[in-house]
Amino acid sequence: MKDQAKPKSSSAQFIEDNIKTFVRESPLNRLKEIDGGPIYDEPLIGFADGDDPLFQDYKRIIGEFHFTPREAFETHLRDDLGISSSFNGALTVISFVLPVSRITRMSNRRETKGPSLRWNNTRWYGQPFAEALTRHVVSVLREQGSRAVAPDQMPLYKVLDLPNGRCSNWSQRHMAYAAGLGTFGLSDSFITPAGTALWCCSVVTDMVLPATPRGYANHLANCPFFTDGSCGACIQRCPAGAISAQGHDKIKCREEMYGVQKAWLEKPGYIGNYAGCGLCQTKVPCETRIPGRALNAPSPK
Ligand code: SF4
Ligand code: SF4
Repeated sequence: MKDQAKPKSSSAQFIEDNIKTFVRESPLNRLKEIDGGPIYDEPLIGFADGDDPLFQDYKRIIGEFHFTPREAFETHLRDDLGISSSFNGALTVISFVLPVSRITRMSNRRETKGPSLRWNNTRWYGQPFAEALTRHVVSVLREQGSRAVAPDQMPLYKVLDLPNGRCSNWSQRHMAYAAGLGTFGLSDSFITPAGTALWCCSVVTDMVLPATPRGYANHLANCPFFTDGSCGACIQRCPAGAISAQGHDKIKCREEMYGVQKAWLEKPGYIGNYAGCGLCQTKVPCETRIPGRALNAPSPK
């Protein structure tokens, strides 16, 4: 049975407002080398109980190496604050999802072989912005008297090369799933009410915030390929053949981005270690919404 909606606490509202204001006003959230337009639109924010059993399940689903919020938080207490005793209080994971701006999504819709210039710049200017936002959230929580840490900015954070592709020991999308923000798609994308073209971030804190209800039946509920066998648009959209009915082939995807699309980096204005692609996240039914549901953002024309 789906969780019932609970009233939001004033602390939750304060954190949400703070994140939204930073996204709206930060000069870092701008494509400064293009036209100063926004990198990301208004974020979605959700909260998960740091001891939600899902986090133990992730050790089985993702791998034993995947940290629970409590393991990350206790590592922070021990290594950064010198507190070696175990922490028994409640924890919250704050997850925030940054949707790629409409104008950038529109530009990537027109592409068929590699990313638009805006998409490429979003990849490489969007990450430092997301990191700055995450640091900002940590500092706001600390100013409020809580302890907080961003696991992906801790020394424990690692990206592992596994036989089926790369995988980190702190999956932002799995945090967002736990925090009620969306579910996974055929392309390995994360489908939220604001679509699938996005960047996910998270912070663990001992500020107690009410968990956001997970309004979905399972981890694939927002992708119609898994609910009724329809869609599959991302299969056609991928220039590398990296998406099929069996899912997303991370190795093929990486070969496309670091190999075939290397030539994109020679185009004027393109930056970074790889061009970025993201074709499977644009010009598909989940680009701006959960397919089959009303749009919560203006429809791409
Ligand atoms: S394009 Fe369709 S099949 Fe692919 S992830 Fe999006 S909703 Fe699922
Ligand atoms: S799966 Fe990889 S190569 Fe294919 S469209 Fe998506 S990002 Fe591009």
